[in-house]
Amino acid sequence: MKIDIDYAKKFYGNGAHGWDHIQRVYSNALRIAENENCDLEIVMASALLHDIERYRDNEDITLDHAELGAQRAEKLLDDFNYNLNQKENIVYSIRVHRYSKGIIPKTIEAAILQDADRLDALGATIISRLFYNAGKRKGIIHDPSIPPRAEYKGAADITTAINHFYEKILKIKPETFNTVKGKELAYSRYEFTEKFLEQFLKEYNCEI
Ligand code: FE
Repeated sequence: MKIDIDYAKKFYGNGAHGWDHIQRVYSNALRIAENENCDLEIVMASALLHDIERYRDNEDITLDHAELGAQRAEKLLDDFNYNLNQKENIVYSIRVHRYSKGIIPKTIEAAILQDADRLDALGATIISRLFYNAGKRKGIIHDPSIPPRAEYKGAADITTAINHFYEKILKIKPETFNTVKGKELAYSRYEFTEKFLEQFLKEYNCEI
């Protein structure tokens, strides 16, 4: 038996890192994998399990959901038919998927997961996720008197929703993606994010 959508679904709830995020990352990963010489079983399992401990970051920002998720996945994988190399690679992919850890993936499957996850942090998708989160914490949409912080220190330190694009999102540069397809998709999503901000600020300043 292999890890599949029905099995993975029960680990996730709603929210910006909820089940719909996992489904998008899974689709992104499969799309990127088409162009790569990789083990699809590893790509699928790691995409489906990569955020199983993500909810714990909200409890305590010092926790590392990637490390915790890797440890939990290692135990769960005992019930499935993967060879040792596959198991190790799934656990490794989850462990290094968090880009902020600054780890350059050593396997193609881990590189695919990292790209697939980061694509969900760009474009129309991140615009939706970002305002969803801003609404949840009853945050400010935009206030030009509050400048963006130069350094992003985590979700607890967000100034305004629009600033969050400058504090974090626009720092996700397409050229830092690992795979050819990942880069290509990232460029188009990055461009869209910039266009959105341009339009928003023009409207805000009554220029259009
Ligand atoms: Fe994720």
